[in-house]
Amino acid sequence: MVGAVGAVLAAATACSGGAGTGDGVRLVTSVYPLEWLATQIGGEDVLVTNLTEPGVDPHDLELSPRQVGSVSDADVVFYIGGMQPAVDDAVGQQAAGSALDVAGLVELRQVPDDAGGGTDPHMWLDPERMATAAQGLADRLAEADPGNAAAYQANTEAVVAELTGIDDAYATGLAECGQRDLVVSHAAFGYLADNYDLEQIGVTGIESNSEPSPARLAEVARLVEERGVETIFTATLVDPAIAETIASEAGVETAVLDPLEGITDASPGTDYPSVMRANLDALTTALDCS
Ligand SMILES: [Zn+2]
Repeated sequence: MVGAVGAVLAAATACSGGAGTGDGVRLVTSVYPLEWLATQIGGEDVLVTNLTEPGVDPHDLELSPRQVGSVSDADVVFYIGGMQPAVDDAVGQQAAGSALDVAGLVELRQVPDDAGGGTDPHMWLDPERMATAAQGLADRLAEADPGNAAAYQANTEAVVAELTGIDDAYATGLAECGQRDLVVSHAAFGYLADNYDLEQIGVTGIESNSEPSPARLAEVARLVEERGVETIFTATLVDPAIAETIASEAGVETAVLDPLEGITDASPGTDYPSVMRANLDALTTALDCS
């Protein structure tokens, strides 16, 4: 069994290396949006392994011994420092030389102290920062595998064009809205709010698993009423019960806004671009944009 798997992997690696380039690059990513970038940019020349399985909340990630092994064997580990302690530890202990920390490529947003402080890891919800991270990954792949540098760069230009299109669609779609308060169960949308001039009101904090205090719940309920909010957004990987309770007490709707922390059957799209566009549709409907 092990021998058969090893043979298949060896064959796949030999094929993916392309003419004269040797073994394919082994790239480990920490969370779905980085996996998407890696597969778009790496194409068939890169073997991508993502550490957060679909359906798992990335903020709670624990690594199996096999996953720690994949980190230590990787040529490049593409991750967001400060988001997942288990990944930070594995990289620090096993892979310091192959680390590519997104926090070193883009400036992460500071979370206001009254919302918990620290940095906000959800940079993928900003298409511009995603484009900068894409270029950083392309440069690193070109170093690791110079024979395919031109392909990585061409793929990156296609990704950046797609991200620019998404950014333009958001800027246009959210320009004229009746409501600019964005009430969300998981406060993952700070980049989006900053970019497109919305105000995020999070029920829970930056970490989706934190429990809101009774005082916070009362505060959100008050803001919903005071500001005439008509929709409270739930997230796909977060228990919707709290948001649904606030919504039913206030007599308002709920809708899904996907923080893109993984793609499952419950996601409103099949990949990063389609979920970003589905989120924009949900926002323009809920915020009464023309
Ligand atoms: Zn999150």
